[in-house]
Amino acid sequence: MRTNLYIDGHWRPGSGSVSVYDPSDGSVITEIQTAGEKDCDAAVMAAFNALPKWSKTAPRYRAEILRSAYEIMISEVDFLAELISRENGKVVTDAKGEILYAAEFFRWFSEETVRVEGDFRKAPSGDKRILVTRQPIGVSLLITPWNFPAGMATRKIAPAIGAGCTVILKPAIETPLTAMAIVDILERAGVPKGVVNLVTPTPAGPMVSQMLHDPRVMNLSFTGSTEVGRILLKEASDRVIRCSMELGGNAPFVVLDDANIDEAVKGLMVAKMRNGGAACTAANRIYVHKGISKEFTEKFAKAMSGLKMAPGREAGAQLGASVSIKERNKIAELVELSVKTGAIVETGGIMPDGPGAFYPPTVLTVDKSNEILKYEVFGPVAPIVTFESDEEVIKLANESDFGLISYVYSGELGRAIRIAEAIDSGMVAINRGMISDPAAPFGGNKQSGLGREGGFDGIHEFLQTKYIGVDI
Ligand code: ADP
Repeated sequence: MRTNLYIDGHWRPGSGSVSVYDPSDGSVITEIQTAGEKDCDAAVMAAFNALPKWSKTAPRYRAEILRSAYEIMISEVDFLAELISRENGKVVTDAKGEILYAAEFFRWFSEETVRVEGDFRKAPSGDKRILVTRQPIGVSLLITPWNFPAGMATRKIAPAIGAGCTVILKPAIETPLTAMAIVDILERAGVPKGVVNLVTPTPAGPMVSQMLHDPRVMNLSFTGSTEVGRILLKEASDRVIRCSMELGGNAPFVVLDDANIDEAVKGLMVAKMRNGGAACTAANRIYVHKGISKEFTEKFAKAMSGLKMAPGREAGAQLGASVSIKERNKIAELVELSVKTGAIVETGGIMPDGPGAFYPPTVLTVDKSNEILKYEVFGPVAPIVTFESDEEVIKLANESDFGLISYVYSGELGRAIRIAEAIDSGMVAINRGMISDPAAPFGGNKQSGLGREGGFDGIHEFLQTKYIGVDI
């Protein structure tokens, strides 16, 4: 297991150390090295020095390294899934799903790397030719959260190095081991020294600020909370560097009166409970048509209460621990707030005794002004609200500063699409509980972010367009 920093092709100690915990029992998994100012500076230097050569390599060369990383990752899925489960708390089945998703970014971007398009045209006036080409932006700082420690890392690293950028990865301090394992895979896949670097500045704020003010750093790709994203956008504005931001969500899950109730319950179990609810895509505000809400709520509460909550690596576990006691307590506080403002607890809502950061599957019925609906609950809590018309539910769904993803269940596709078009979010799932796909553009509207990751757009977050006008 890697526990050191990775700078300029070497695994090396940093300037301090912290423990990484198993949140399912609070035990220490291991100590990792933390980065100080000098280490961050060395990582920037390494990425900067590696850039000229790497950016000039043949796309096919970079693509084949990414393809090898994909093969290695798939062949080590069991080890990686166990590692994620240990430091993050999620169940092994979710962790395996994450590794397959994460590896797919290496494969998808190995394919995209060799297909970056340009353009050559005659100007309308006929006086010149318009030549448009795309070039790597340069040294990119990649900051990732703890909820998908593998997926969020590969979703950034793969397009970045595919585009010809060099990177500094800063994983969340709760889940650095997975990030280290991924960088280890990239090293074995043949990434040259300096192209990928990993640092764990602790505390993150001042050293991330230092890197964003370093003239050698040209790009920031961040996934995390809107609160921190806003701080980083301000920091990045000092040097006007490019930013992609995948921030918070508060996803509405809309069940229309003509929906197949059993399918909608099944979809909500995925949309709410994948990753134990710790996903920016997690269904957070459940809007169910009044005419079917009783049956829907009963069936959903039954499915939720039937889940096995246990340490992530235990056989049959369906809901693991939250990443930390602090995160678990945030979930409990939001449920308390919800009950204080009128929620009825249909199931769950009681924190278990004993070690581990567990919170049970919880279903609440609330009215549309309940406080919990304003927050992103990063856990297994589903507040259900009833509505009476399509117009009303569109309005309710849009009553949020977030706009990442929405879910719509209906028996009539045209109706579902009309609602999907009216909801202000970057993504909409119709009659499905999950739509994340490396081949599709992931990202949010409003305060859920800037830019898109994955799909055809993803590599463009690391490229800049150059126009060359040629006199002919
Ligand atoms: P989450 O709610 O998912 O924990 P955060 O926004 O707190 O999201 O964290 C996402 C990432 O941002 C993590 O890698 C974390 O270490 C980093 N981070 C947190 N605070 C700051 C900060 N002030 N400056 C830079 N990075 C930060």
